[in-house]
Amino acid sequence: MSKKRIAVIPGDGIGVDVCEVGVEVLEAICSKLNLDFQIDNFPYSAEHYLKTGITLPDDEVENFRQNYDAIFLGALGDSRVPTNVHAKDILLGLRFKLDLFVNFRPSKVYDENLCPLKGKTKDDINFVVCRENTEGIYVSAGASFKKGTPDEIALQESINTRKGVERIIRYAFEYAKNNNLTKVCMSDKGNAMRFEGDLWMRTFKDVAAEYPEMEISHQFVDAIVMNLVRAPEEFEVIVTCNLFGDIITDLAAQLQGGMGMAASGNLNPGKVSLFEPVHGSAPDIAGKGIANPLAAVMTVQMMLDYLGFKEASLLAEKSVLEAISTKNVTKDLGGNLTTKEVGKFLVDFVKNN
Ligand code: ATP
Repeated sequence: MSKKRIAVIPGDGIGVDVCEVGVEVLEAICSKLNLDFQIDNFPYSAEHYLKTGITLPDDEVENFRQNYDAIFLGALGDSRVPTNVHAKDILLGLRFKLDLFVNFRPSKVYDENLCPLKGKTKDDINFVVCRENTEGIYVSAGASFKKGTPDEIALQESINTRKGVERIIRYAFEYAKNNNLTKVCMSDKGNAMRFEGDLWMRTFKDVAAEYPEMEISHQFVDAIVMNLVRAPEEFEVIVTCNLFGDIITDLAAQLQGGMGMAASGNLNPGKVSLFEPVHGSAPDIAGKGIANPLAAVMTVQMMLDYLGFKEASLLAEKSVLEAISTKNVTKDLGGNLTTKEVGKFLVDFVKNN
C-alpha cells in the first residue's frame, strides 16, 4: 500500500494531551506492522489564532484536500477566544469545505462497568449514529431584528436539501448492508418541524425501497432518546439530522462510558476525512494531565479502519480493551493513571502483542 499522510491538529485544552497519546499509539502500530505513514503536525488552535490572527487558511484546506488521506483533530475551544471563531473556522470550516457530510459515531460498551444503565451488557449497546454533518441548523442561516430592544426578533433557519438528506440516509443503509446489520432507524421531529420532517421522511422511504432486506423504523427525537436509555439493544443504525445527531450522540457517549470513550469520524467517503474524539477541550481539566486518552485512541482506530488497515485498527482496539480490563485508565473510568501513563501502557501493549 502506498504511503498514507495524516495531518494532526491537536487544537486546544485536553485536545493537545489526548492527541499526543493518539499519535504515539499510531506510531507504535505503524512501526510494529511496518506501515508507511507520514504524520505532520499543524498548529491551528486558539493559541495560534491569538498570536497570528489566523484561524485556518484556505490554502491549508486545499493542502489537506490534495495531499492528505486523513486529518486527526484533538479538540477546539478556549475561553480566551469568547466567540470561538477559531473553532468554528477550523472544525465547521473543514466539515463544510471538505464536504464531510457523514458524522459517524459508534456507541459500543467495552466493559459493562462503564455503562451507567442497570443490567445492560456488552451485547445490549452496540449501535452507530450517522449524523448529517453539513446542513441543518449548523448552516447558520437566520437574522436578528431590532436587536437589544424589547421588540427583538431572532430567526434561526434549518437548511435541508434533498441531495444532502439523501446521501446521509444512503450512507446509513450502505453501512448497515456492508456490516451485516439489518435495522435502520430515522429520527426527526417531523410533528413540529413539518417541512424538514416531510423531506426527511419521503427521502427515507425512497432510499429504503432500494434496501428491501432492511428493517426500517422512524422515531421522533424525544422518543429515541427515551428508548436509547430504556432499550438500547433495539438499535443498530440511526440516521438523523445535524442538530439531533449532536444531541443523540452525547447521550450515546454516556451509554458507552462517558466522553472519554467516544470517537467520531467526519467522512466524505473515499476522500480525505477528519477524525476526532467526541469530547471538547474540557477547560475544567485541561493542563492537569488527567484527560482520558482512550477516545482519541479509538479515533485513531476508526481512522485506521477507514483507511483500510484492519489489522492495525484491531490492534488499537485491543490496546484500549486491555487498558480497560486491567484498570490502566484515568480517574473518569475509575483508575488512577495520568494521561501520559495510559499512553505508555497502550504503547507497551502494542509493542508486545
Ligand atoms: P464542548 O465542546 O461541548 O463545549 P467541553 O470541552 O466543555 O465541550 P465536553 O467535551 O462536552 O466539554 O465534556 C464535558 C465534561 O466531561 C468536561 O468538562 C470534562 O470534565 C469531561 N470530559 C470530557 N472529555 C474528557 C476526557 N477525555 N477525559 C476526562 N474527562 C473528560
